[in-house]
Amino acid sequence: MAEPRRLTPLGTPAELRGECARIRSAGQSLGLVPTMGALHAGHRSLILRSLAECDRTAVSIFVNPTQFGPGEDFDRYPRSLEADLLLCSELGVDLVYAPTAEAMYPDGFATWVNLRGVLVETLEAAHRPGHFQGVATVVTKLLVTARPDRAYFGQKDAQQCAVVRRLAADLDTGTEVVVCPTVRDSDGLAFSSRNARLDPAARRQALAIPAALAAAAAAHRAGETDPERIRRLILGRLAESPDLAVDYVAVVDAETFEPARQVSVRCEILIAARIAGTRLIDVLRPGTDERLAVGAGG
Ligand code: AMP
Repeated sequence: MAEPRRLTPLGTPAELRGECARIRSAGQSLGLVPTMGALHAGHRSLILRSLAECDRTAVSIFVNPTQFGPGEDFDRYPRSLEADLLLCSELGVDLVYAPTAEAMYPDGFATWVNLRGVLVETLEAAHRPGHFQGVATVVTKLLVTARPDRAYFGQKDAQQCAVVRRLAADLDTGTEVVVCPTVRDSDGLAFSSRNARLDPAARRQALAIPAALAAAAAAHRAGETDPERIRRLILGRLAESPDLAVDYVAVVDAETFEPARQVSVRCEILIAARIAGTRLIDVLRPGTDERLAVGAGG
């Protein structure tokens, strides 16, 4: 079999705009998969979905400094551009965009995209001030430059998905935002670029997160619809991992992120927790996330 051609990443907005314009003028549809690199099976599933649904697929790889707060892990964030390019080539990705921070935020940069309301005040927003301003700004820049027909995001980052859906609609981008299911490792832990930093002991404790969500799913299947009882069930399960520091457990409406009055398919059950300096998030959509590894943990 022929070696896949090594992709040469595009590095500037002008290059991305030019390539994407060529695709559009050839009458082809374009899918965009925005990532921060260190690609894993979760990213792979987004890329495969785009390849299946669009004529051409672009992957962006950019560790976006503006979505990290002071003291967060921007410097320690895993980076593996060569391996990422190889994976993209093997999968048949058409173009990779890997700009520098200077190309994205040149001197004098002064335009920030800010949403308003509960969605950008609660949970991740409260724990990571400025995070969604950075996310909304970089995603808007990517959508404006590439003008993809579809953009692919992972359910694991549920609040990010809600923010992106909102901004794509509000700014009339014309891009369909496609949210893909969370991909989990065989032990139930959701794939994350940050998992590489977990040693075996930390990883064992982190498994309380999917186990707690599995317990919540089981309780919901058995008829539990009270958000507070579901929260307490999850907190109890997480407490079995003594080194896991819980940032929040929440049951919210999936669109508005207002607290849910009843657990239903319109809700998301969210967990954020830290273990050994690594912050992990996970989510369950009750009634729809049957692939969650029930009973994972230990
Ligand atoms: P990141 O590189 O972490 O910014 O993630 C890039 C995209 O991949 C985001 O839309 C994430 O939600 C998505 N993603 C990350 N982890 C997973 C996962 N385990 N399953 C599915 N999608 C994921």
